[in-house]
Amino acid sequence: MEPMSGAEVVFRRARVDADGPLVDLAIRDGKFFSVGPNGEKAPEPAPGSEMVDLDGRVVLPGFVESHIHLDKAFLEERRPNLTGSLQDAIAITLDLKASVTKEDIRARSERALRLLLRHGTTRIRAQVEVDPIVGLKGMEATLELKEACRDQVGIQIVVFPQEGIEQQPGTEALMREAMRMGGDLVGGVPYNDHDAERHLDIVFDMAVEFGCGVDLHLDFSDDPEDRCIESVARRTVAAGLQGRVAVGHLTSLGSMDDEVASRIIGQIVEAGITVIPLPATDLFLNGHGERPARHRGLTRVRELLTAGVNVAVASNNIRNAFTPSGNGDLLEIGLLLAHAAHMSGAAERGVIPELFTHHAARALGVEDAYGIAPGKPADFVVLEEKNWDGIIIDQPEKRFVVKNGRVLAENVSETRWHV
Ligand SMILES: [Zn+2]
Repeated sequence: MEPMSGAEVVFRRARVDADGPLVDLAIRDGKFFSVGPNGEKAPEPAPGSEMVDLDGRVVLPGFVESHIHLDKAFLEERRPNLTGSLQDAIAITLDLKASVTKEDIRARSERALRLLLRHGTTRIRAQVEVDPIVGLKGMEATLELKEACRDQVGIQIVVFPQEGIEQQPGTEALMREAMRMGGDLVGGVPYNDHDAERHLDIVFDMAVEFGCGVDLHLDFSDDPEDRCIESVARRTVAAGLQGRVAVGHLTSLGSMDDEVASRIIGQIVEAGITVIPLPATDLFLNGHGERPARHRGLTRVRELLTAGVNVAVASNNIRNAFTPSGNGDLLEIGLLLAHAAHMSGAAERGVIPELFTHHAARALGVEDAYGIAPGKPADFVVLEEKNWDGIIIDQPEKRFVVKNGRVLAENVSETRWHV
């Protein structure tokens, strides 16, 4: 191991796995310089450098929010969704969208981003709405924010036609313009357009044209007949986009019978598609159709993981007509998914943090520059937690949030007993 004397800062005695030895994380030039077992003789950093003793606290790579709508965060404060239906969520948001300004989008996005950062997120993939109603205001605001916050959080932008493409004439041209402005991926929502297949034609053609990946909102219902995913899997293989397509929701998969679901999961594996359950939204908007509700509207998380699908988990929204809750906290979203997917037991909860760290990084295509290893960017979260098994069920405070070796946030919670 290289001597640590060249390090600018050393975080000593970190727990980076369930049962291995504690390690020292030495950082130089914003990257991990060395990651090694904590020796009896503590290595001395260079004069003027810092030493932080973590005393065995759990350290995870910076959280990755793989599906978030910053541009419609906090709209619940203006008008809530009182029925909890998807149709009302779309209608309320469309109505509110007519009067938003770029400054308003920027202010709410920044507020959401600050929450995400405070809770340990150092990379995000933002879905930015583009259509003739809001125009390119969301793109302009998010691109400004991306530049202003580049040292705090890495932002990818999905150009997202929430109101459909042919359903809102003029959207396709605006999407192309948004891609030229700096969009990273083409988004889509085939369930909210005149013709789902035609919608997918446009999205995949545009992705090929711009040489980028695709990120879709898909099969968002508890209707087992919603099987657009089969078409997406075929198109992904045909376009050579294996590993570069993600789908959010995919809740209808949870309502299908086992045989059909198994066949479709096989197609997802072959196409290398990432599936991103969005439980705070899925559980709010789905399951209203039947009394009693037989389908609760969540995708098959366990089966997808068992089949080898890259499953991530994300917030989707923070407090709007699609999702009334949200604190920008992926530990909280992880616990919600663990409960809803029957994965909160000791045998399975250990995989949940992978869904908003390594799996989410793979969804974003950034896995080569992700993780706690020498040479990688020093992005990590120190939890106020010493027990690896407590990451999800203890919901620990994020003591330090570190991006490129720099502490961005320190959170301290304290209880003062009066009994
Ligand atoms: Zn979404």
